Amino acid sequence: MRRVDNFNAGPSALPLPALERAQRELLDFEGTGMSIIEHSHRGKAYEKVHFEAIALLRELMGVGDESHVLFMQGGASQQFATVPMNFLHAGQSADYVITGGWSEKALEETKWFGKARVAATTATEGTPKFKRVPKPSELELDPAAAYVHLTSNNTLFGTQYQAFPDTAAPLVVDMSSDILCRPMDVSKMSLVYAGAQKNVGPSGVTIVIVKKAFLATAREDIPTIFRYGTFAKNDSLYNTPPTFAIYLMRNVLAHAKELGGLAAIEKTNRAKADRLYGALDALSSFYVAPVEKESRSTMNIVWRTPSKELDAKLVAEAAAKDMVGLAGHRVTGGLRASVYNAVSLASVDRLATFLEDFAKANA
Ligand code: PMP
Repeated sequence: MRRVDNFNAGPSALPLPALERAQRELLDFEGTGMSIIEHSHRGKAYEKVHFEAIALLRELMGVGDESHVLFMQGGASQQFATVPMNFLHAGQSADYVITGGWSEKALEETKWFGKARVAATTATEGTPKFKRVPKPSELELDPAAAYVHLTSNNTLFGTQYQAFPDTAAPLVVDMSSDILCRPMDVSKMSLVYAGAQKNVGPSGVTIVIVKKAFLATAREDIPTIFRYGTFAKNDSLYNTPPTFAIYLMRNVLAHAKELGGLAAIEKTNRAKADRLYGALDALSSFYVAPVEKESRSTMNIVWRTPSKELDAKLVAEAAAKDMVGLAGHRVTGGLRASVYNAVSLASVDRLATFLEDFAKANA
């Protein structure tokens, strides 16, 4: 079997034990004579998996009884619209913190439902356009806002909040690319959403954590399938959920627990980021890592060489050594290594060594 060092931005590397478990269980799930994908979502076999996934997420993230954990579909992009559809009432305004393309897209969707303000933006001239996230003191918040929306990790630009601001209005966080990367105090957040396809599983399922008190303020005059309340009332079994995605997510979550939970995962992620940023900083006459140090992401590490040609050469030479997924986003260019939870320190160490050798050979 060949397994490469996978630095894809999402869908991305998944933990091998979670995949192997799926392989073992695929044809005959727990002695039921069929795969989990062939089970009814109303049956005992699937329900057990479904509720185990919810319980594991609650346990790993420290989500208490004050919140619902929901499994939805449509990706984070659908949440860009679902959040204002549910929570932006007539005459209200919402605050958006703009730190990259995903928060811009989230803001864009509010126009269908009401008003929105930019509470802060870290866009600047030049490339890349976003090099940091704002300091709490830079946020110009409207205390009467329906909610404040921010993106915890900016997948394209490689920036990440180290801490979250205190806000008077309910805080809504797009956590698509760093959910489960470290312990986070979700009790501060009224709503968290994340597509699963980076740290939690395959694409197809979207995790939503919503405070019951916030949900109580949601609009009811919208279609049933777009109401968070529909998912909350029915344990995310109102209609057919993406059963295979949720099953695989269960495997990833069970593995995360075996690793020692989010504190242990954070330690490994820190070591991975230190190794990679350390190599780039040591070679700063050749590589440019544009993100300001306090905003550096531990999940998406972006940099560039002195030229587009060398960027392309690096991507090709890395691929020849079974290190894949290093081209930057099509919008930003440059290089990016996504080092989500399932990417090992050994993979990152191989990449860092390769970067050192490449700089020597091409400087
Ligand atoms: N938000 C962030 C931070 C993302 O990284 C992505 C996808 N890369 C999205 C939103 C969009 O997610 P989806 O493709 O699940 O709609």
